This record gives sequence, structure tokens and C-alpha cells, in this order.
Amino acid sequence: MLHTFRFLLLTVIIGSLFLNTLCDFSEKRQDFTFFNSPETKNLIYFDNAATTQKPHIVIQSLVDFYEHYCANIHRGDYELSRHATEQFEQARIKVARFVNAQKEEIIFTKGSTDGINFIASTWAMTELKDGDEILVTELEHNSNILPWLQVSKKTGAVVKIIPVLPQGELDMKELEHLLTTKTKLVALTHCSNAIGMVTDLSDIIARAHAKGARVLIDAAQSAPCRMVDVQELNPDFLVFSGHKLCGPTGIGVLYIKKELTGTLIPYQWGGGMVDIVHDFEHVELNDVPEKFEAGTPAIAQAIALGAAIDYVSTLDKELIKNHLANLCSRMIDGLENIGHVRILGSTEQLKKNGHVVSFIVENLPTEIVSKYLDQHGICVRTNKHCAHLLAHRLGYDSSIRASFYIYNTIEEVDLFINTLREFMNTQYAALAGQVKRTSIDRAHHLWGDVS
Ligand code: PLP
Repeated sequence: MLHTFRFLLLTVIIGSLFLNTLCDFSEKRQDFTFFNSPETKNLIYFDNAATTQKPHIVIQSLVDFYEHYCANIHRGDYELSRHATEQFEQARIKVARFVNAQKEEIIFTKGSTDGINFIASTWAMTELKDGDEILVTELEHNSNILPWLQVSKKTGAVVKIIPVLPQGELDMKELEHLLTTKTKLVALTHCSNAIGMVTDLSDIIARAHAKGARVLIDAAQSAPCRMVDVQELNPDFLVFSGHKLCGPTGIGVLYIKKELTGTLIPYQWGGGMVDIVHDFEHVELNDVPEKFEAGTPAIAQAIALGAAIDYVSTLDKELIKNHLANLCSRMIDGLENIGHVRILGSTEQLKKNGHVVSFIVENLPTEIVSKYLDQHGICVRTNKHCAHLLAHRLGYDSSIRASFYIYNTIEEVDLFINTLREFMNTQYAALAGQVKRTSIDRAHHLWGDVS
């Protein structure tokens, strides 16, 4: 009897684990015009790390604003404006819940780049001085490097770089060296947009805080795909973009820890932020967040981001993560069976929690491959994916990046693999070798075996 019970229990546990890992969101494709309209329905869209498609309800939310309650916010003394204001502020509450923040800690921006520039132009410009240090990593998108180089030029603070190991993990020994009491900011990505490697942040954030440094997290790639909880992670600043999360372009989020919002000077100055003007030189500003949102914000986009968050939040984040990892796993298995292909990053990690598979075809410029894929209705990104430091470190000029989101399916991955295999079988031999010095040669030179 006991044995039977144990067996049943085990079956239920294994069954639910199996279901969890085999989650499938293909029915969600119905929610996207893109996957149902004649011009685009047959495309395989694998460029989600660049931007995702938008469900009807997000598009409808934009249309609703413009058709039914288009008015400026926070200032109008009439019902329409009050309604728009309420919807805008509701969106802020949705964003705050999404990352477990308070609504006063959420600033609407244009996107991740804008959020990072905000902190670089405000906190960093006032707090940093000659000899201070800013730590970034080799995994960063250029948006999380260039603003710090500007800060360096203007303040004399030095930007130092945490290197990555051959498989794209951060070199934690180097981090130990580089993180000192001179470090005033650690600015790092949660997940690499170029190769999909996820960084375990908790330990790094705790270590940075122990040295007295502030931490900025670039969650552009992670917020759409996994749980991002600011209470748990405890960063000082965190950014992400709406358009990578089924939301519209032109809207993003900057989280600023509450204890810091009081001390920060605004990024931009203008209408919407002013509470009382005593005289020409003495102005009292509104409270946060309005204090940081000068001018008319992207009202429709913020409201539509709220709709996108509602949409994505109907899905369990753990299931999203598992689904994306399953797609990576299938892709990696398929690629490993095709000769002359090298996958970037740790395949072991990507199979567990990736949403991006980035690879190189030996002796061949990536554009030739992506052109072939494009001719077969497959959208992928090539080149350095705005992560030049990483490309230099890993020694590739250009990689082919397939990046997934909820609506992608195992069947699409299989089609991708079959198309690539066909290309390799029919064209590779004739085309390869046209390139004399390959990216892979350089990768070997730098790292030994990069796979
Ligand atoms: N950081 C990462 C990791 C990204 O992937 C991107 C965009 O691809 C950005 C920052 C910049 O985002 P945005 O262009 O939306 O400002």
C-alpha cells in the first residue's frame, strides 16, 4: 500500500516537472496580429532580443488612447485628462508590481539606454570624482558602456572592465581584484543580449554594497524572460525597455531605490515637474516620480506598457523561462549535429535558462547565412549585437543570433535547423574558404576551444 502511494506520488511529481519543462505557449500566437496576417504569418521571427511582437491588446490600448481619451496628463482640470492621468499612473503601479518596487521608485523613460543615461547624467556626474572607479563587464551592451565613458571624461572616474571566461561567464576572480573601496558603481547586465548568458546577481550586488559601491542592473534582456524582483536583488538602479516585453517602442523603465530618489537631481528640466514657482530663481519641484519626468511623457506608450505587463503577467515567469530554455536546448542539439558550427556561451547554461543562441559558421561571413535564412522566411540578427567588447574578447567579427520569446515553438526551431542543414549541405562547400582568416581562428588564438 505504502509502495503504491509512493509510486503514485513520484509519478505526480515527475509528471508535473515534465509538464513544467515542456510548457508550450503556441496558442498565444492567436493573440498577435503579426502571426496571423498574410504577409507575416509564415515568418519565423527569431529576433526577439532586439524587439518582440505586440499582442492585439497592446496595440488596441494605443488605439484606445488616441481614439477615446487623448489628453495630456497631470494638468487638465477635466474628466478626459483625469482619466488619461489615472490610466498613466495605473501603468506605473503595474510596472512597480512587476518588479516588486514601490510606485514612487518607477520612472518612465524612453528605454534602457535612456535610463542608463539618466543615472550617468545625474547620480554619476554629481557623485563621482577623479580617481573613483566604475566597474562594467565585457558582457555589456554598448548602452551600458558608452554613458560611463562620458562620465569618465567629465569626472575623471576610471572605467574598469570585468572580463569574461571563454564560455561567457564573468571571471569572478578578476571581479574580486577589481572591486575595491575605490569602486563607486558596478553597472552590469543581468543577461547578455549577444550570447544569452545569465549572471547570478545576488552575490555580486552584495559584494559591491559591502565595498560601498552602488549597483545598476541592465535588465533589458532579463525582465521579459525571468523573474526580476528588486527587493530580492537589491540593486540601487535597474533599467529595462518596454518594446522587448511585448510593449511599444519609446517607453522604458528606470527603477531608483527610494532612499536615493530624494538626493538625485533631475535629468531634464521643464514642465510637469514644477510644484510652486516663488520667483524666477526659486522653484519647488513636484515629488518623485514627476520630478524626474519633465515635459509631456510618452502617455499612450506607458499605458500600453501596462497592457503588455498585464498580458505577460498572465503567464508564469518560471514557465516562460522553461519554455525559452527548451527552445534553446532544441536549437543547441540541432546545431551540434551540423558540422562547422560553433555555439557561443555555455551550452549547459543556455539549455537551463537561455533565451538566445548565438553561433558562428566556420569560414563563412554570417551575412551569407542570414541572407539564406531570410530568403526562407527566417528573421535572425547578425553582427556584434552592440556588444563589441564581448565580440573582441571571444574573437568573433559577427555571430548569428536566434532569440526567442513566448510565441516561438519547437516546430519553428526544427524548421530553422532543417533550413540551416540544407544550406550547409548544398552551399557551404562552395562558399567556405572564400574567407581567408576566420573569426574562429582568432577565437582559438585567444581562448583555445571556444565551444
Ligand atoms: N541593454 C541590453 C542588454 C540590450 O539588449 C539593449 C537592447 O538591445 C539595450 C540595453 C538598449 O535598449 P534600448 O535600445 O531599448 O534602449
